[in-house]
Parts: sequence; C-alpha cells; structure tokens
Amino acid sequence: MGISRNLLLWASKNTWMLKHVPSYKFVKKAVRKFMPGENLSDAIKATKDFMEQGVSTVFTHLGENINEIKEAENVKNHYLEVLEKIYSEKINSEISLKLTQIGLDLSLNKSLDYFNQIAQKASEFSNFVWIDMESSSYTKTTLDFYRRAKSNSKNIGICLQAYLKQTENDLLSLLDIKPNIRLVKGAYMEPQNIAFKAKSDVDKNYLKVAKILLAQIKECDIKTVFGTHDLKIINQIKKISADLKVQHEQIEFHMLYGIKPREQLLLVKEGYKLKVLISYGTAWYSWYMRRLAERPANVGFVLKNIYSK
Ligand SMILES: Cc1cc2nc3c(=O)[nH]c(=O)nc-3n(C[C@H](O)[C@H](O)[C@H](O)COP(=O)(O)OP(=O)(O)OC[C@H]3O[C@@H](n4cnc5c(N)ncnc54)[C@H](O)[C@@H]3O)c2cc1C
Repeated sequence: MGISRNLLLWASKNTWMLKHVPSYKFVKKAVRKFMPGENLSDAIKATKDFMEQGVSTVFTHLGENINEIKEAENVKNHYLEVLEKIYSEKINSEISLKLTQIGLDLSLNKSLDYFNQIAQKASEFSNFVWIDMESSSYTKTTLDFYRRAKSNSKNIGICLQAYLKQTENDLLSLLDIKPNIRLVKGAYMEPQNIAFKAKSDVDKNYLKVAKILLAQIKECDIKTVFGTHDLKIINQIKKISADLKVQHEQIEFHMLYGIKPREQLLLVKEGYKLKVLISYGTAWYSWYMRRLAERPANVGFVLKNIYSK
C-alpha cells in the first residue's frame, strides 16, 4: 500500500478534480471497464447476460454524502423503483446502498425511515438490501444503524472491512442479532492506529474474521458473503469451508463488475453462488478513484484511452 494508493485516495476526495475529471472523455471511456453504463437499464441488460451464465447481480446507484434531505428522498424513491423493476423484469438482483446516500449526515431518523421503507419493499418482493461500509468515521454509526434496522427487517445485511483492527470485535458484538455479513478488505484511506496497512496483515485479518463467519453458519442461518477478487483468499475460504463441512450453497462470493470475469465463471462452475456488483449512475468519480487505488496499474489503462478513439 504505497504512495500511489494514497494519492489516488486523496484524489477521490478532491473537490476540484470531482468537478472537472468526470467531463474528460478519455476518463469516461475508461470507467466503462467497471460499469456497463450510467443508467439502471444498462445494469438490467448486463444482468440478463450474466443470468445466462448462472451469475446474479447486486445493484448500486452511485452517490454518497448528499447535501439536502430532498436528494436522500429521491435516492430512496429510486431504490423503491429499482426493487419494482427487478421484480417485473424477473432478474436475480439485490441492492446495496450507502447510508450517506439516504441522508445519514443530515438526519439519522429520516435516513432510518427511508431505509426501513426500502427494506420493507424488498421484503415484499423477497429481495435483499445490503448496507455498504463507508470510511471509519461512519463505522460505529453504521453498525448501530444496522442493529436498529435489523429489529424491523430480516432481509438486510451489512459490509465489514477486514483492514480495520476493530472488525473482529464488531462482528462478535453483532452475533446476537444473527447478522448477514459481506466481508471485504476495505477501500478508504484510514490511519495506522485503527487500520492494518500491510496487505499481509489485512489478508490475515480477513481470514480470521472469515473463520468466525464460517463457524457461525453452522450455528444459525445467516447470509455470508465474501466480497473479494483475491484468489488466494478465495481458495483458503473454500478449504476452511470444506473442513467445517459448510456446503457450497451456504456461502456466496461477490465481485465487482469488470474484475476477474473468468474467475467469476469458474466459481459458478464449481457450484458456488456468485454475484457481480454492478454500479451505475453519473456520480462515479469518487467510487472510480477508489477502484484505481485498489490497483494503481489501472491508471495506465485510463491514460491509454487518451489516444484511443
Ligand atoms: C461486492 C463488493 C462490495 C464491496 N463493498 C465495499 C464496501 O461497502 N466498503 C468498502 O470499503 N469496500 C468495499 N468493497 C471494496 C473492497 O474493500 C476492496 O477495496 C476491493 O474488493 C479490492 O480488494 P480485494 O479483496 O479484491 O483484494 P486485493 O488484494 O486488493 O486484490 C486482489 C486482486 O484482485 C484484483 N483487483 C482488485 N481490485 C482491482 C481493481 N480495482 N482493478 C483491477 N483488478 C483488481 C487484482 O488482480 C488484485 O491482485 C467491495 C468489494 C466488493 C467485491
């Protein structure tokens, strides 16, 4: 995790770049590697293609840290429509959202109300809602929010980040509510006192938390998702699951659109559940910068698009 990652994560929050970079044509082109298009219809079309290969999807409408409660209400209404559309189009897709998208910074009660409406609608359609985990300043609030929302809805899950030293304890503290967990490594710039910095330490913690989750599946019916493209970690999870006699269909792997497509299909062939997270919308700048930070070599791909037509 060197300086390039930090530079890209700094850029993800830079307001000048946020205003200007999305209008550069070559950047717009490069973004297509990670998203099928800016509209919900693009995500639906991509899902239909994936379904032919046994892959389901998760939809995320891009956006975070909105400034007015009206925007949060619009996001809530959008997700209600998405759930209706998923149902009417008969596609296998769940949704995943950021709490700051539905007004967490502005009003806890309003955002909880909006979230409950979304979860209620998802439940009517036998669907499922994931809560993304944002930067560490939101971790505690997001965990508390999940606990409150879970008392109303069973069909909701939360993302936990293995790079945070606190995550193992956070998971243990949630076990009494039978949490549905999507475990990822973590995508934000975090200080050393709270986050592991070396990849080997993050990976070690990922597996430690994964073991707790896998053991928990044996105890109760919870949805357990491993959101990673790290093939070494995926192989270890398969091995630990086999040792614990966890069945293939009791766990899911989730990956991002455009990353390791071949390996995604291999997992399906092996009998694992695989979902691809598809992001869409126009507010892709900060999200895209985090994707570049995960693999700074991607910047070369962006620059190549300057010269291509
Ligand atoms: C379904 C899903 C949901 C997520 N939700 C959240 C969330 O709510 N909060 C959060 O903080 N983070 C989230 N993330 C992002 C996550 O935290 C990591 O930043 C990201 O998944 C990269 O980590 P990795 O586990 O793939 O491992 P890494 O060690 O980073 O990558 C392993 C390998 O995967 C490939 N790879 C990884 N990323 C890229 C990339 N961008 N471009 C090209 N190749 C790549 C490379 O070959 C790399 O060597 C999510 C990720 C997924 C898959």
